[in-house]
Amino acid sequence: MISSADALTIVLSHLLPLPRIRVPLAEAVDHVLQEEVRADRDFPPFDRVTMDGIALVHQAWEQGQQTFLVEEMQKAGQPQKQLLEPTACLEVMTGAMLPMGTDTVIRYEDLELYEEGSNRFARVQTGPKVAGQNIHRRGSDQLEGDLLLKPGILLGPAEIAVAASVGKDPLLVCRPPVLAVVSTGDELVEVTQQPQPHQIRKSNVYMLQAALRQAGIQAERFHLPDVKEDISRELERLLGQFDAILLSGGVSMGKADFVPEVLAGLGVEKLFHQVAQRPGKPFWFGKSPAGKVAFALPGNPVSTFVCYFKYVVPWLQASMQEKPAPLPVAALAQDYSFPPDLTFFLTVRTERAADGRLLAHPVRAGGSGDFTSLLQADGFLELPRHQKDFKAGEVFPFIRFRRE
Ligand code: AMP
Ligand code: MG
Repeated sequence: MISSADALTIVLSHLLPLPRIRVPLAEAVDHVLQEEVRADRDFPPFDRVTMDGIALVHQAWEQGQQTFLVEEMQKAGQPQKQLLEPTACLEVMTGAMLPMGTDTVIRYEDLELYEEGSNRFARVQTGPKVAGQNIHRRGSDQLEGDLLLKPGILLGPAEIAVAASVGKDPLLVCRPPVLAVVSTGDELVEVTQQPQPHQIRKSNVYMLQAALRQAGIQAERFHLPDVKEDISRELERLLGQFDAILLSGGVSMGKADFVPEVLAGLGVEKLFHQVAQRPGKPFWFGKSPAGKVAFALPGNPVSTFVCYFKYVVPWLQASMQEKPAPLPVAALAQDYSFPPDLTFFLTVRTERAADGRLLAHPVRAGGSGDFTSLLQADGFLELPRHQKDFKAGEVFPFIRFRRE
């Protein structure tokens, strides 16, 4: 039986060879970028007015002038205008180019504007704090040619905004894998069905599909009965059709646990079976000669959950060439004992302590079948093997399954 760390290493050395594709900017969120995005001009591209008000020459005010003739109006979206008289001003709007010849902006709140005949004047009530105020200087954020987005980043709304502003459409990204999620077991019925006393509704495939969907990955659901021939026929078809298969159930020592045997019979090479962990010990992982990957996760819902977030998520991220983020950690909020020599994924609910540390409170769970315990939790604390007693305050890797 291999360790959890070795299992993860093996999983991460069998990544999918996913192609790069171009996707429209409007659909690129949640994809992993595969190209550099650079500033095509300075950020901002001109001295940008940041307040509605007037633009003037600071020196004129400094020399005691308080009232300024308004020559013109400079709005956002208009080519740059010019101040003709250094003792006058222009009205300016947020987002406009700073008029040529001016150097300071005073907001309306600090002015009084009035008309006299056909002339318009601005009287300064509260003078500028500094010369050059309320101007977002050209190139002060980024310079033309600066690297803004690196390959390997996950595109979120901020990245999309930056790509949009430099005119990057479409974007080169990694094609997300297309996955099959497969439940196995004669006891499982569809969620729309009324189960008989000996039956339960399937939940794992919905959980896996939902988790994948949150990661921006499409998956189709399938179900297999505990019949060897049926499993074999269907898995052969799915291996041809999908990049990878996530199975749940049928991998333990039971008389109806045919999945490992069937996968091996289809030429999917076993890379490991059984991991020294709880929950999720029966986990099986393999790869076909055509490069298709099969995760056969144990069927107990919490086991499926743990294995998905511990192994499948980093494998998906690495397959899509996402740069790995630092692993989060959390401190145990209370002493905890786990005597077996297994890595233990403790179901926890975290809380941010006053000093900023993440504190992990164990959630009471009735074993790996009790998936209602996950409702109170936001992740798993990974307690290492070869240690029985864990003290409050000790820090361990934290596997989050809930969005922050
Ligand atoms: P197995 O790994 O097939 O031995 O299943 C272990 C336990 O998980 C059994 O109690 C199954 O009924 C349950 N189980 C298996 N697959 C699912 C599923 N898709 N949804 C909910 N429970 C499941
Ligand atoms: Mg089963």
